[in-house]
Amino acid sequence: MAQLNLCSLVLVASFALLLAIHLSAAHPRKLMKSTKIPSLNEVKGYLQAYGYMERSEDHPTGTSGDSPITESSLKPAIRMYQEWNHLEVTGKLNSETIARMMTPRCGTPDIVRIPDKGVHHESKPGKFRVVAHYSFFKNMNPWSQRQLTYSFTSTIPSVPIGDLRAICTRAFQHWAAVSPFQFREAGQGEVANIMIGFYTGDHGDGYPFDGLGHTWAHAFSPRDGRLHYDGSENWSISTPTTDQTDLESVTLHEIGHTLGLAHSQDPDAVMYAYINTGVIKRQLQQDDINGIQALYPSK
Ligand SMILES: [Zn+2]
Ligand SMILES: [Zn+2]
Repeated sequence: MAQLNLCSLVLVASFALLLAIHLSAAHPRKLMKSTKIPSLNEVKGYLQAYGYMERSEDHPTGTSGDSPITESSLKPAIRMYQEWNHLEVTGKLNSETIARMMTPRCGTPDIVRIPDKGVHHESKPGKFRVVAHYSFFKNMNPWSQRQLTYSFTSTIPSVPIGDLRAICTRAFQHWAAVSPFQFREAGQGEVANIMIGFYTGDHGDGYPFDGLGHTWAHAFSPRDGRLHYDGSENWSISTPTTDQTDLESVTLHEIGHTLGLAHSQDPDAVMYAYINTGVIKRQLQQDDINGIQALYPSK
């Protein structure tokens, strides 16, 4: 079964926009607006969405009639979040922690959870450790072939197919330059390894997009190959303004997921989870290169 290496960039201009939350499979991720800081329910949803807590489909959290969530019940997950994010580890929802949660980011889970087996990260099941740098998704099948094809399933008016093609070509070239992979666009009628398209709302893969300001994209691990952009975002295909998301930077990041890289803890890395609007990150960094070369040794 495809493991979702979900990339949902949370674009939050201010504290007026709150967190994107997976409430349950039956409840699309909701964009909540408020002038207040996030509720504990929202924090729980955030921690679940990014792998710090189990997503208990059996307990429809966030619905009316919920049992109250206490901060102490979230403490282990908050601690894990703080540790992963190199914040002071207090287990408390302090302002620094909330501010980080509000920061624009990719929504791919930072921590990969395998049902009933606890947290799996790096090589220490059940134990979270901060090593910084790149990481891989667990429970995936890395690509066996080194020639990969891609195709485009859909686009949006603000991103003409020619621009999308050019952007993706450049992004693939960056990865090809530092890995054993070669990429080419699939021919007519050919089933591609990586399928790229724009979607909005609930689009059938269990991870609905949530409109402008939150999830910008997500991608699945090998050998699934789906790479989805949120069609509701304010995309830039050239130089982004301060309220635009740079499509090429996002593409470079998402391709990393399709190859098997999870999030890096190196803030400079392309595979770092957080990126603000208006920011360009179109060059792979040493940590990204180390990651892909560790996963797919060249020779
Ligand atoms: Zn990501
Ligand atoms: Zn999707």
